[in-house]
Amino acid sequence: MNKIIELKQVYKDYPQAGTLQTVLHDINLDIFPGDFVAIVGPSGNGKSTLLNLLTGIDHPSRGDIIVNGTHLQNLSNKKLTAWRGANVGIVFQFFQLLPTLSLLQNIVLPMEFLGKLNKSQRKERGTQLLERVGLADEMHRLPSHVSGGQQQRAAIARALANDPPLIVADEPTGNLDATTAEAVFELFAHLRDQGKTLVMVTHNETLANAASCKIEIRSGRIHADSSPEPYF
Ligand code: ADP
Ligand code: MG
Repeated sequence: MNKIIELKQVYKDYPQAGTLQTVLHDINLDIFPGDFVAIVGPSGNGKSTLLNLLTGIDHPSRGDIIVNGTHLQNLSNKKLTAWRGANVGIVFQFFQLLPTLSLLQNIVLPMEFLGKLNKSQRKERGTQLLERVGLADEMHRLPSHVSGGQQQRAAIARALANDPPLIVADEPTGNLDATTAEAVFELFAHLRDQGKTLVMVTHNETLANAASCKIEIRSGRIHADSSPEPYF
């Protein structure tokens, strides 16, 4: 089967206190379509950095990253932004919805950037996506006028706006109480069942245990005991 994500000998250095600190060492990783990968490990060990590399938000210092058939290092920053809009949906811990736009406008925005649908189609799709995540009644509200769980559900709808094959989430339930996290978890489980590829950093045990594979990052390396085997 074709890999959807391939990382080959990837390193990332950051300048820290006047020297270069290597925060990711020799990462080799293959992810296949439909995989649900949970990335676990202590804070400050390189998990977010890894996600930023495989979404092209940041560049590796060395190594190759191929996502959905594209070598990310071959793209200019402008092309990377366009590539990301079509290929990856990203969900952040702190939601990162645009505060001056309604939930619906937040969901419509990535469709505008992609430019495939006309205005009424975008509105219709945005409405459907918000209905799917249980926000039919809130779609015209500003993010600050809904709860954290509702904002995260809107952020998941936004990640799905352009129907990308890959969804990447960085501690998506990290800022939610247990009950709200459960509702967000249900949405991810549903995406998994639909065959989306999910790569998620999480400290939530329920989410990590629902993954088809768990990868532990310690001190910037894939921990030797990480099981490549499915968890269920
Ligand atoms: P995690 O997500 O596992 O908590 P991160 O990937 O955010 O860890 O960070 C790993 C290391 O890289 C930390 O030491 C952090 O301080 C450092 N780091 C992350 N981003 C930057 C940056 N933009 N510039 C310098 N150092 C960074
Ligand atoms: Mg992080």
